[in-house]
Amino acid sequence: MNRRAFLASLGAAGLAYAGYRLWPDQGIINPCISGLPDTLAQHPLMQQIWEGIDPEQVWDSHVHIVGTGDSDSGIWFNPNMDSWLHPSLKIQKKFYENGACAEPSEIDHSTISRMLTLSKEMPTGYKSLLFAFDWFHDEQGIARKENSIFHIPNQYAAEIAIAHSQYFEWVASIHPYRKDAVDALVEAHARGARAVKWLPPGMGIDPASPKCDAFYRKAADLNIPIITHTGKESAVQGGDQNHGNPLRLRRAFDHGVKVIMAHCASDGDDEDFDDGNKRISSLALFTRLMDTPDYEAFAYGEISALTLVNHAWAIKPILERTDWHHRLINGSDYPLPAIMPLINTRQLYQMGLLESEHLPFLQALKTYNPLMFDFAVKRLLQFNGNHFSQQVFETRRFFERNLVA
Ligand SMILES: [Zn+2]
Repeated sequence: MNRRAFLASLGAAGLAYAGYRLWPDQGIINPCISGLPDTLAQHPLMQQIWEGIDPEQVWDSHVHIVGTGDSDSGIWFNPNMDSWLHPSLKIQKKFYENGACAEPSEIDHSTISRMLTLSKEMPTGYKSLLFAFDWFHDEQGIARKENSIFHIPNQYAAEIAIAHSQYFEWVASIHPYRKDAVDALVEAHARGARAVKWLPPGMGIDPASPKCDAFYRKAADLNIPIITHTGKESAVQGGDQNHGNPLRLRRAFDHGVKVIMAHCASDGDDEDFDDGNKRISSLALFTRLMDTPDYEAFAYGEISALTLVNHAWAIKPILERTDWHHRLINGSDYPLPAIMPLINTRQLYQMGLLESEHLPFLQALKTYNPLMFDFAVKRLLQFNGNHFSQQVFETRRFFERNLVA
């Protein structure tokens, strides 16, 4: 294992450190500055990134709530994340808190107020889909706190979204093995959840298990999409990485469920069940699903984290598939874009995906508003004349349509 692979094995903290060592000028600590200066707000590139886009249609489909439960939110973090016995977990938590601009005295509230500040600087109509996050559950469908890394209750995500409905929508998280999974799905749908979020390796979900069938039937019935992690998982450690294999989602597609495959499986490799379980890139397996004619109406790719240092290699092959663009959905994976070393505009420039004149604008924007920064990077990416079309960002229609059964 080389040094970079070793650091990557430490998760987001290791990646941040690797990114910092390679490009120290990109900074390591989010300075958490507020108030976009006119030089950025009026910048010609600012006009360029919003040109032809209807902000009322721009919903960021992948946004994490960061907190520790120091309010009555019900948020829970594994205590290992606060222990130097688990240094990579502890450092990782620090990076998340810094990215989200958490104030130590009131972490839950300060991270939400930071998101509100950032959202208010976005053009009117722009919204973020806030994720709840369910417990790890065992094979019997029992919640296992000790195996969970964190927990964000559905109730809390819903409350925040309802309290600030001009900026937020919410996404429920429901483990499909739960005894009450179907009832919880019906309830979340009735309360306006726009989708369901799964992190199969971190939550103990095998999407190919028959134990998901009742959940799939109800999700198809309600026409509510599942946003699920695909490919290698670095941000949340533990669990069975095989559960992120995109091919395991065939079971959901066969039930007629719309699935948004987060990150387009752009990191890691997985077993190819169609070819003697040979390991090939997870992206190649994602590609096979996207290219399966029967799945055309169900398989969607989501481009959050694609610009991260360990995913960026996948940008070109995805940009070139313009025939997929109507099935690609933008998400930021906030607070990841706010963790300074994780997205590196210089790397993207060196790959021929950004122009040199984009860099000072993007670098400045990153310190003020990571949501705007993430949007700007993806709008400016270009290769061989291909860029992410406006429909990749105007995702509201997709989520609204899915509320109508
Ligand atoms: Zn995420």
